[in-house]
Amino acid sequence: MTRIWSYTGENGPEFWPELSQEFYEAAQFPLQSPISLSYEETQPLYKNLTFHYEKQTFSIKNVNDTIHFEPVNTISFVDFLHDRYYLTDIHFHMPSEHIIANEQTSLEFHLVHKNNYGDPLVCAVLFYLTKEPAPSWAEDNNELLFDPSLFLPMNASYFHYEGSLTTPPTDGPVKWFVFDQKNPMSSSLMERFKTDLLPNNRPLQDKKQRLIYYKK
Ligand SMILES: [Zn+2]
Repeated sequence: MTRIWSYTGENGPEFWPELSQEFYEAAQFPLQSPISLSYEETQPLYKNLTFHYEKQTFSIKNVNDTIHFEPVNTISFVDFLHDRYYLTDIHFHMPSEHIIANEQTSLEFHLVHKNNYGDPLVCAVLFYLTKEPAPSWAEDNNELLFDPSLFLPMNASYFHYEGSLTTPPTDGPVKWFVFDQKNPMSSSLMERFKTDLLPNNRPLQDKKQRLIYYKK
Protein backbone atom coordinates (compact mmCIF):
# COMPACT_ATOMS: atom_id res chain seq x y z
CA MET A 1 0.00 0.00 0.00
CA THR A 2 1.31 3.41 -0.81
CA ARG A 3 1.48 6.04 1.88
CA ILE A 4 -1.38 8.55 1.54
CA TRP A 5 -0.27 10.82 4.37
CA SER A 6 2.58 13.27 4.60
CA TYR A 7 4.19 15.82 6.93
CA THR A 8 3.50 18.85 4.73
CA GLY A 9 0.88 20.19 2.35
CA GLU A 10 -2.63 18.93 1.77
CA ASN A 11 -1.89 15.48 3.25
CA GLY A 12 -0.07 16.99 6.24
CA PRO A 13 -0.74 16.30 9.94
CA GLU A 14 -3.70 18.68 10.31
CA PHE A 15 -5.49 16.79 7.53
CA TRP A 16 -4.65 13.21 8.59
CA PRO A 17 -8.13 12.60 10.12
CA GLU A 18 -9.74 13.50 6.79
CA LEU A 19 -7.68 11.08 4.71
CA SER A 20 -9.48 7.87 5.71
CA GLN A 21 -12.15 6.52 8.03
CA GLU A 22 -9.47 4.60 9.93
CA PHE A 23 -7.39 7.76 10.47
CA TYR A 24 -10.50 9.67 11.51
CA GLU A 25 -11.44 7.11 14.15
CA ALA A 26 -7.90 6.94 15.50
CA ALA A 27 -7.80 10.74 15.84
CA GLN A 28 -10.83 10.57 18.15
CA PHE A 29 -8.61 9.13 20.88
CA PRO A 30 -8.34 12.24 23.06
CA LEU A 31 -4.79 11.94 24.36
CA GLN A 32 -2.62 12.40 21.31
CA SER A 33 1.19 12.42 21.00
CA PRO A 34 3.77 13.91 20.92
CA ILE A 35 3.63 16.48 23.73
CA SER A 36 5.93 18.98 25.36
CA LEU A 37 7.29 17.72 28.69
CA SER A 38 8.46 19.80 31.62
CA TYR A 39 9.64 18.69 35.06
CA GLU A 40 7.42 21.13 36.98
CA GLU A 41 4.18 19.46 35.89
CA THR A 42 5.15 15.90 36.77
CA GLN A 43 4.37 13.67 39.69
CA PRO A 44 6.63 10.87 40.84
CA LEU A 45 6.32 7.46 39.24
CA TYR A 46 6.79 4.63 41.73
CA LYS A 47 6.56 1.79 39.23
CA ASN A 48 9.61 0.53 37.40
CA LEU A 49 10.12 -0.17 33.74
CA THR A 50 12.71 -2.94 33.48
CA PHE A 51 14.63 -3.86 30.36
CA HIS A 52 15.35 -7.41 29.25
CA TYR A 53 17.12 -6.70 25.98
CA GLU A 54 19.42 -9.16 24.25
CA LYS A 55 21.67 -9.06 21.25
CA GLN A 56 19.54 -10.19 18.32
CA THR A 57 19.03 -9.87 14.56
CA PHE A 58 17.02 -7.02 13.04
CA SER A 59 15.96 -6.69 9.43
CA ILE A 60 16.20 -3.27 7.78
CA LYS A 61 12.86 -2.37 6.20
CA ASN A 62 11.40 0.67 4.49
CA VAL A 63 7.81 1.07 5.67
CA ASN A 64 5.91 4.18 4.58
CA ASP A 65 9.20 5.78 3.48
CA THR A 66 10.68 5.37 6.97
CA ILE A 67 13.50 3.01 7.85
CA HIS A 68 12.58 0.45 10.48
CA PHE A 69 14.72 -2.10 12.28
CA GLU A 70 12.43 -5.06 12.87
CA PRO A 71 13.43 -7.88 15.24
CA VAL A 72 13.54 -11.15 13.33
CA ASN A 73 12.65 -13.08 16.51
CA THR A 74 10.62 -12.20 19.59
CA ILE A 75 13.38 -12.02 22.21
CA SER A 76 13.90 -8.61 23.79
CA PHE A 77 11.20 -7.23 26.08
CA VAL A 78 10.44 -4.72 28.80
CA ASP A 79 8.41 -5.38 31.93
CA PHE A 80 5.91 -2.87 33.31
CA LEU A 81 3.34 -3.66 36.02
CA HIS A 82 4.18 -7.38 35.68
CA ASP A 83 3.31 -7.38 32.00
CA ARG A 84 5.80 -8.22 29.27
CA TYR A 85 5.97 -5.97 26.23
CA TYR A 86 8.10 -7.42 23.45
CA LEU A 87 10.20 -5.23 21.18
CA THR A 88 8.56 -5.18 17.73
CA ASP A 89 10.11 -2.20 15.92
CA ILE A 90 12.78 0.50 16.10
CA HIS A 91 12.53 3.67 13.98
CA PHE A 92 13.37 7.35 14.23
CA HIS A 93 12.06 10.86 13.70
CA MET A 94 14.07 13.93 12.67
CA PRO A 95 13.89 16.33 14.42
CA SER A 96 12.62 15.04 17.78
CA GLU A 97 8.85 14.82 18.30
CA HIS A 98 8.86 15.23 22.06
CA ILE A 99 10.12 18.45 23.56
CA ILE A 100 11.80 18.23 26.97
CA ALA A 101 12.16 21.38 29.06
CA ASN A 102 11.58 23.48 25.93
CA GLU A 103 14.35 21.73 24.04
CA GLN A 104 13.95 19.91 20.74
CA THR A 105 16.84 17.76 19.49
CA SER A 106 17.83 16.64 15.99
CA LEU A 107 16.72 13.07 16.42
CA GLU A 108 14.34 10.83 18.38
CA PHE A 109 14.38 7.04 18.30
CA HIS A 110 11.24 5.06 19.10
CA LEU A 111 11.53 1.55 20.49
CA VAL A 112 8.06 0.07 20.00
CA HIS A 113 6.85 -2.85 22.15
CA LYS A 114 3.62 -4.82 22.39
CA ASN A 115 2.22 -7.16 25.03
CA ASN A 116 0.28 -10.35 24.24
CA TYR A 117 -2.92 -8.32 23.83
CA GLY A 118 -1.28 -6.01 21.31
CA ASP A 119 -1.20 -3.04 23.71
CA PRO A 120 1.65 -0.74 22.69
CA LEU A 121 4.43 0.66 24.90
CA VAL A 122 6.94 3.00 23.28
CA CYS A 123 10.29 4.14 24.66
CA ALA A 124 11.52 7.42 23.18
CA VAL A 125 15.15 8.52 23.34
CA LEU A 126 16.35 11.93 22.15
CA PHE A 127 19.71 12.34 20.45
CA TYR A 128 22.01 15.04 19.14
CA LEU A 129 24.19 14.35 16.12
CA THR A 130 27.95 14.05 16.45
CA LYS A 131 30.92 13.10 14.29
CA GLU A 132 31.50 10.02 16.43
CA PRO A 133 31.72 6.68 14.67
CA ALA A 134 28.57 4.63 14.18
CA PRO A 135 27.67 2.04 16.82
CA SER A 136 29.50 -1.20 16.26
CA TRP A 137 27.10 -3.75 14.95
CA ALA A 138 27.36 -6.62 12.55
CA GLU A 139 25.66 -6.15 9.21
CA ASP A 140 24.91 -8.77 6.62
CA ASN A 141 22.48 -8.84 3.72
CA ASN A 142 20.07 -6.16 4.99
CA GLU A 143 20.22 -7.55 8.52
CA LEU A 144 21.80 -6.04 11.60
CA LEU A 145 22.98 -7.84 14.73
CA PHE A 146 22.98 -5.64 17.83
CA ASP A 147 21.80 -5.30 21.41
CA PRO A 148 18.94 -2.75 21.37
CA SER A 149 20.29 -1.41 24.68
CA LEU A 150 22.67 0.62 22.53
CA PHE A 151 19.78 3.05 21.99
CA LEU A 152 19.18 3.49 25.73
CA PRO A 153 20.81 6.26 27.74
CA MET A 154 23.11 5.48 30.67
CA ASN A 155 20.81 7.40 32.97
CA ALA A 156 17.47 5.60 33.15
CA SER A 157 15.25 8.50 34.19
CA TYR A 158 12.15 9.13 32.15
CA PHE A 159 8.78 10.79 31.75
CA HIS A 160 5.77 8.52 31.53
CA TYR A 161 2.35 9.40 30.16
CA GLU A 162 -0.55 8.01 28.16
CA GLY A 163 -0.70 9.07 24.53
CA SER A 164 -1.14 7.85 20.97
CA LEU A 165 0.90 6.70 18.03
CA THR A 166 2.45 9.68 16.22
CA THR A 167 1.91 8.36 12.68
CA PRO A 168 -1.50 7.55 11.17
CA PRO A 169 -3.60 5.85 12.33
CA THR A 170 -2.84 7.74 15.58
CA ASP A 171 -4.52 5.20 17.88
CA GLY A 172 -4.25 5.11 21.63
CA PRO A 173 -3.73 4.41 24.37
CA VAL A 174 0.02 4.06 24.06
CA LYS A 175 2.18 3.88 27.17
CA TRP A 176 4.97 6.39 26.55
CA PHE A 177 8.32 6.42 28.34
CA VAL A 178 10.41 9.39 27.24
CA PHE A 179 13.98 9.35 28.55
CA ASP A 180 15.30 12.77 29.47
CA GLN A 181 19.01 12.19 28.98
CA LYS A 182 20.02 13.40 25.53
CA ASN A 183 22.52 11.21 23.78
CA PRO A 184 25.10 11.37 21.00
CA MET A 185 24.43 9.62 17.69
CA SER A 186 26.66 9.31 14.66
CA SER A 187 25.53 11.73 11.95
CA SER A 188 27.07 9.51 9.26
CA LEU A 189 24.88 6.62 10.39
CA MET A 190 21.78 8.77 10.25
CA GLU A 191 22.79 10.10 6.84
CA ARG A 192 22.65 6.54 5.62
CA PHE A 193 19.13 5.82 6.91
CA LYS A 194 17.60 9.15 5.90
CA THR A 195 14.65 9.06 3.52
CA ASP A 196 12.82 11.64 1.40
CA LEU A 197 10.08 11.85 4.03
CA LEU A 198 12.23 13.92 6.43
CA PRO A 199 11.52 16.01 8.41
CA ASN A 200 9.12 13.47 9.92
CA ASN A 201 8.05 14.89 13.27
CA ARG A 202 4.35 15.25 14.06
CA PRO A 203 3.59 18.66 15.61
CA LEU A 204 2.98 18.92 19.37
CA GLN A 205 -0.49 17.91 20.55
CA ASP A 206 -2.67 19.38 23.28
CA LYS A 207 -1.75 17.98 26.71
CA LYS A 208 -5.34 18.32 27.95
CA GLN A 209 -4.47 18.17 31.68
CA ARG A 210 -3.27 14.61 31.39
CA LEU A 211 -1.18 13.14 34.19
CA ILE A 212 2.55 13.13 33.47
CA TYR A 213 4.88 11.12 35.66
CA TYR A 214 8.62 11.26 36.16
CA LYS A 215 10.87 8.45 37.33
CA LYS A 216 14.30 9.47 38.65
ZN1 LIG B 1 7.74 6.93 15.95
